[in-house]
Amino acid sequence: MSDRLLPGLYIVATPIGNLSDLSPHAASVLAAADLLAVEDSRVTAKLLAHIGVKRPMTPYHDHNADRVRPGLVAEMAHKAIALVSDAGTPLISDPGYKLVREARAAGRHVTTVAGPCAAVAALTLAGLPTDRFLFLGFLPAKAGARAAAIAEVAAIKATLILYESGPRLAATLQALHQGLGDRDAAVVREISKKFEESVTERLSVLAARYAEQPPKGEIVIVVGPPAPAEPADERSIDDALAEAMRRLPVSRAAAEVAAMLGLPRRRVYERALALSGPGK
Ligand code: SAM
Repeated sequence: MSDRLLPGLYIVATPIGNLSDLSPHAASVLAAADLLAVEDSRVTAKLLAHIGVKRPMTPYHDHNADRVRPGLVAEMAHKAIALVSDAGTPLISDPGYKLVREARAAGRHVTTVAGPCAAVAALTLAGLPTDRFLFLGFLPAKAGARAAAIAEVAAIKATLILYESGPRLAATLQALHQGLGDRDAAVVREISKKFEESVTERLSVLAARYAEQPPKGEIVIVVGPPAPAEPADERSIDDALAEAMRRLPVSRAAAEVAAMLGLPRRRVYERALALSGPGK
């Protein structure tokens, strides 16, 4: 057992690009921990080499977590175990929350060593409102599920933060434009790395830009909140419904438009039925 650390679980944030962003506190916990629970030992080995230490590692990732979790929680009774992911803050679109929950339930000491997180770093770069934000992680890959996930949050008055990959970026921006309207948004890439970039534009402009040129590297999308609601006139409801009903069944089209315009779903659904009724 380590001389310096109490037994228990240490959630340790690691750099999302520049290895020098590892905090002295994080480095000292990694150096003193009895065991590191890691997503990928090759990635963590590079970080350990950077700080000149070697520690025993055990894999903890989506494919083995359920199987190895009880053993780890048991070991925490007499060992200091540090949980790290490949980059950034564990548990944020990464494994770990069940480990924390079960460690707590077993009465283990649980503490966090806070540090980099791509979602928050992107928010600081985007130049969009920061007072209220909602983190959505990765949206579903399939178009229908993605549109439904976007419709669910369309009326929320907050900046939205999403993780995405280069090959899917343009399709996701297009879906966000379709579901949220032409809001201000930012594509933030390669944070704290050599080619860090943050481009803030309308969603339509970003969708066109990245459709032409799919970007490389790691990406966060930040979407500004909806504009203060102007009462929607009948014409704009009808236009939005006509467009949505070309793509979706009536009820889903009504739900999407209601969320997009911030209107009661029932009112929009009744209008959609009238528009799609016999003779229309
Ligand atoms: N736990 C990590 C965190 O705290 O940000 C996130 C892990 S998630 C599996 C990985 C995703 O985070 C990437 O696909 C990308 O969307 C985002 N990401 C991670 N590092 C990034 C960086 N340096 N620049 C931009 N996005 C990054």
